Amino acid sequence: MSTVTENKTARQEQDVLSSTQQVILDALTHLGYGPAYYELLKTPLLTLTVRIPVRMDDGSVKVFTGYRSQHNNAIGPTKGGIRFHPNVTVEEVQALSMWMSVKCGVVGLPYGGGKGGIICDPREMSVGELERLSRAYVRSISQIVGPTKDIPAPDVYTNSQIMAWMMDEYSNLREFDSPGFITGKPLVLGGSQGRDTATAKGVAICIEEAAKRRGISLQGAKVIVQGFGNAGSYLSKFMHDAGAVVIGISDAYGAIYNENGLNIEELLDMRDSFGMVTKNFKDTISNKQLLEMPCDILVPAAIENQITMENAHRIQAQIVAEAANGPTTLDATKVLSENGILLVPDVLANAGGVTVSYFEWVQNNQGLYWTAQEIEQRLREVMIKSFERVYDMATTQDVNMRLAAYMVGIQSTAEAMHYRGWV
Ligand code: GLU
Repeated sequence: MSTVTENKTARQEQDVLSSTQQVILDALTHLGYGPAYYELLKTPLLTLTVRIPVRMDDGSVKVFTGYRSQHNNAIGPTKGGIRFHPNVTVEEVQALSMWMSVKCGVVGLPYGGGKGGIICDPREMSVGELERLSRAYVRSISQIVGPTKDIPAPDVYTNSQIMAWMMDEYSNLREFDSPGFITGKPLVLGGSQGRDTATAKGVAICIEEAAKRRGISLQGAKVIVQGFGNAGSYLSKFMHDAGAVVIGISDAYGAIYNENGLNIEELLDMRDSFGMVTKNFKDTISNKQLLEMPCDILVPAAIENQITMENAHRIQAQIVAEAANGPTTLDATKVLSENGILLVPDVLANAGGVTVSYFEWVQNNQGLYWTAQEIEQRLREVMIKSFERVYDMATTQDVNMRLAAYMVGIQSTAEAMHYRGWV
């Protein structure tokens, strides 16, 4: 059985970090910034490793390893999710924090990039164990985070309940209510309307824009979505609602495919809280096979390194929209672009999540809350403007969409570092 979660190697993780450094260098070079800028941006300014003892339900103590990485805070506090996953590594968390800097720059948020991670498998932990781990992690990193320092959020296998425990722990430590410490909270604790669907909504808006550029109508367009977590499941629904036909989806264990379209409503009802759904089906194919099926729009919405040199030339889509972070390697990006596929890179495609996180933080700071319609309208404006900026950069500079997004995204950080006198 093929899995998308278990196939990463230490070597690939190193590659994620070094290829991120490569695109940052390329972007800075294209923009005319000298080596001093790269020297500051090539690794995070701060990476903290913590060892976290947690009392398990059987009475034993298990020691977990966690990280928090802050890439750059020239523009403002760092921002980014916390992932709970057995394959978390320090290089991965660092690379993810660097992508957050670029992502925040692409959509014009007043943040630098941050990211956290804990090596654990939440699918095998009880609710009590997860709560104790979440609270202990916050105590371990409390000195370097805060509403004006570094603001966490959900990521792979973390959710609004985990954000709520973390916010409560931080508020207890500080002895005042601190909703602005973390985003992705439940509504009743200062969460924002539309945050749960924001990543998928942003991807859907990017797909609409990309489809317009390619003259593709979403009515009847065939869509494949790899991953059925927060981004993948809502995106499947949005595509279905827009008249597209979702012909394939997957989870960590396998994929289901039907060229006439899947019953998305039924799949949404079946999925568990980790997005697992394929165990309900007998006829599954592998994640690998799914990615290579012909379609109009392919959406990798799981984890890193899924489209590589091994399969890039077999991708049969017109548009690839990266809902996941880092699903396509750098070499594979070139293959897709040489084959005329319009790639909407992660730092643009999935930026709707952090954009509504920003709205959540603004609402927490001002103590005045916006309606779902206001959030959606603001998100739509940001996504369309950002798509246009990246697409125009790619066209005018004759570079691929990933490099274009990095150029748009890193420029404001470089400028801010200059004004601060860091370079
Ligand atoms: N984890 C999400 C991302 O990778 C959201 C981050 C946030 O909302 O701060 O973009």
